[in-house]
Amino acid sequence: MKGFAMLEIGKTGWIEKERPKCGPLDAIIRPLALSPCTSDIHTVWEGALGDRHNMILGHEGCGVVEEVGELVKDFKVGDRVMVAAITPDWSSLEAQGGYPMHSGGMLSGWKFSNFKDGVFGEYFHVNDADGNLAHMPEAVSPEEACMLSDMVPTGFHGVELADIQFGDTVLVNGIGPVGLMSVAGANLRGASRIICVGTRPACREAAKKYGATDFISYKEGSIDEQVLELTGGKGVDKAIVAGGGVESFDPIIKALKPGGKIGNVNYLGSGTYVTIPRVEWGCGMGHKMITGGLMPGGRLRLEKLASLIEVGKLDVRHLITHRFDGFEHVEDALMLMKDKPADLIKPVVNI
Ligand code: NDP
Ligand code: ZN
Repeated sequence: MKGFAMLEIGKTGWIEKERPKCGPLDAIIRPLALSPCTSDIHTVWEGALGDRHNMILGHEGCGVVEEVGELVKDFKVGDRVMVAAITPDWSSLEAQGGYPMHSGGMLSGWKFSNFKDGVFGEYFHVNDADGNLAHMPEAVSPEEACMLSDMVPTGFHGVELADIQFGDTVLVNGIGPVGLMSVAGANLRGASRIICVGTRPACREAAKKYGATDFISYKEGSIDEQVLELTGGKGVDKAIVAGGGVESFDPIIKALKPGGKIGNVNYLGSGTYVTIPRVEWGCGMGHKMITGGLMPGGRLRLEKLASLIEVGKLDVRHLITHRFDGFEHVEDALMLMKDKPADLIKPVVNI
């Protein structure tokens, strides 16, 4: 079968591979729609995970079941299914401990385009199919299902990590597709003011639709000073980090009230240390918490998030700015994600 792969750090291309084999608990899926992620860009062009050779890229997609293992109970050949980017081993001790995304070791629930071939193939393999697949509801289109693989659960996980409560003033640092879903999630959780950091006009327009109330730019002065000015010197209750680099935490700590929480879902692809300003961190006693997390995967989460689309409480179509028809355009979609033109939020390839 054909797949679009990372050949080595900084290099991608089409390769031929054997169709993956299906174990007793697994499924083989033929994609219906695919989407590239900024994480693929960190992985290939920053070498953020280390070198990978001839590894098929991609972890956002949905498809049709082509084959199932004999122990799979709830899925059969021909079913239309959604798949999360993170596919944990649900019987692992880490999953039993509440951290499925780290099943088998830190970040090891992230298998596609990390430890094994991703979804940009004519077929892809899903481990633990009963735990990692979900039936695609009638009301959810394949391209919407692609947004449920990663953008929605990751953006919403930022909301969970920041512990957004009714009436919170929230800073969302980065409003690409992930941050936009954090805006939507914070809004659903009852945030009052949602202050967004990001400059691309398409993203700002979408952010307004998802509940953003204020915008600031990291290109026009420091983020903390702008936030403090907007909030009359008070700062924000919570912050979600979905963009920027290792240096992002310094101004956010400065802009956060004592007792505030930061939820980071940004993939820090380069740099060695994250620095925290001592004084504004209350000399270590300010109760300012930072939690960074890979999103959890799993069928239950996929079904629950899809139900928000089904009842009309979440419209992920505002994320999709570029559409391609045909598997061969996976390459174009990935390059678009690398170049990030001003009108891009998220491309989708329908197959
Ligand atoms: P984008 O590149 O589309 O968006 C990044 C956003 O950050 C943009 O709004 C950009 O602004 C803004 N930004 C850039 N530089 C700065 C800065 N110095 N300070 C503040 N904001 C800045 O990314 P995505 O939304 O696709 O992904 C966001 C991150 O989430 C990525 O690192 C990705 O790898 C990661 N990710 C993590 C996952 C997880 O499970 N934890 C899963 C999926 C993705 P501008 O408008 O100017 O471009
Ligand atoms: Zn991703």
